[in-house]
Amino acid sequence: TVKIGVLAVQGAVSEHVRALQESGAETAIVKRPEELVGLDGIVLPGGESTTMRRLMEKYGLIDTIRVFAEQGHPIFGTCAGLILMAKSIDGEPSPHLQLMDIDVKRNAFGKQVDSFEASLELKPFAEPYNGVFIRAPYINRVAKNVDVLATYEDHIVACRQDRFLVSAFHPELTTDWRLHRYFVEMVTEYR
Ligand code: GLN
Repeated sequence: TVKIGVLAVQGAVSEHVRALQESGAETAIVKRPEELVGLDGIVLPGGESTTMRRLMEKYGLIDTIRVFAEQGHPIFGTCAGLILMAKSIDGEPSPHLQLMDIDVKRNAFGKQVDSFEASLELKPFAEPYNGVFIRAPYINRVAKNVDVLATYEDHIVACRQDRFLVSAFHPELTTDWRLHRYFVEMVTEYR
């Protein structure tokens, strides 16, 4: 079995832990850089990306997660976690981990639409997938080497670049474990 960490500075942590366990992985909570040692992959959950970034900087997690990524480990970012992984953020000067060749727009579906659910076609799956969106970002642009996995109303809401996976929606808030299972398979391949 692979061992996958969930970044736990803020946000939806326990739901990801449960989803990963249901998908056959061992799990660990990551609050400090040393807790990345021995992990095969990590999930960056939803929350508030500016708060998460501030806490990650405080605990020295920005650089250690970058190194962890460079070592070849897969990372799955959901919602705010997606924002953390983007190379650039629309209208904001300072991106965070800059791991993926994507440009994201925060709170992209408008203030009046705080949250919604939508049936999505996800490229790896034969059956539709219910996406839960909460003050969600979407992806404006992707580089050629990024594989688009899902769109909603012509906006990209999930994609993959080699060992990096992101979704604008919250897969941990349903009991459909297909996306976590997909990530666990990715982690198994890259180990
Ligand atoms: N709106 C949040 C942000 O920009 C993300 C929302 C979420 O993770 N549910 O950080």
